[in-house]
Amino acid sequence: MIIFGTRERKLGLAELPGHSCGYCDNRGTLFAQACTMYFHIFWIPVFPYAKRVYSVCSHCRQSLTLYQMPPDLNATATVVGRKLKAPWYYYMGLILLSIALLLLAVTMIIGAIASVS
Ligand SMILES: [Zn+2]
Repeated sequence: MIIFGTRERKLGLAELPGHSCGYCDNRGTLFAQACTMYFHIFWIPVFPYAKRVYSVCSHCRQSLTLYQMPPDLNATATVVGRKLKAPWYYYMGLILLSIALLLLAVTMIIGAIASVS
């Protein structure tokens, strides 16, 4: 039985300077929060396939998706969200698969050389 599926993890927060919250109107309380969606096999991340960016107010906790944000905040959050990238270990499944295929190829080459000589 193979256990696989998708999960979502937070990548981090980044400040959104120059914007005020649309609900509580406080300045300097807005942050961009990026989350990545990734595919996993046995809870080992194989590859990320999507990223979602939200604006979060640290004062009133209002959270907006990119589609709910005003255009100026959307543009800033998109730029800030691009800087929050998935770390290398979110590709661990692909790395392990590549190593397994490389070892298989080396084993087959060594076996072919040994059978010739
Ligand atoms: Zn607020």
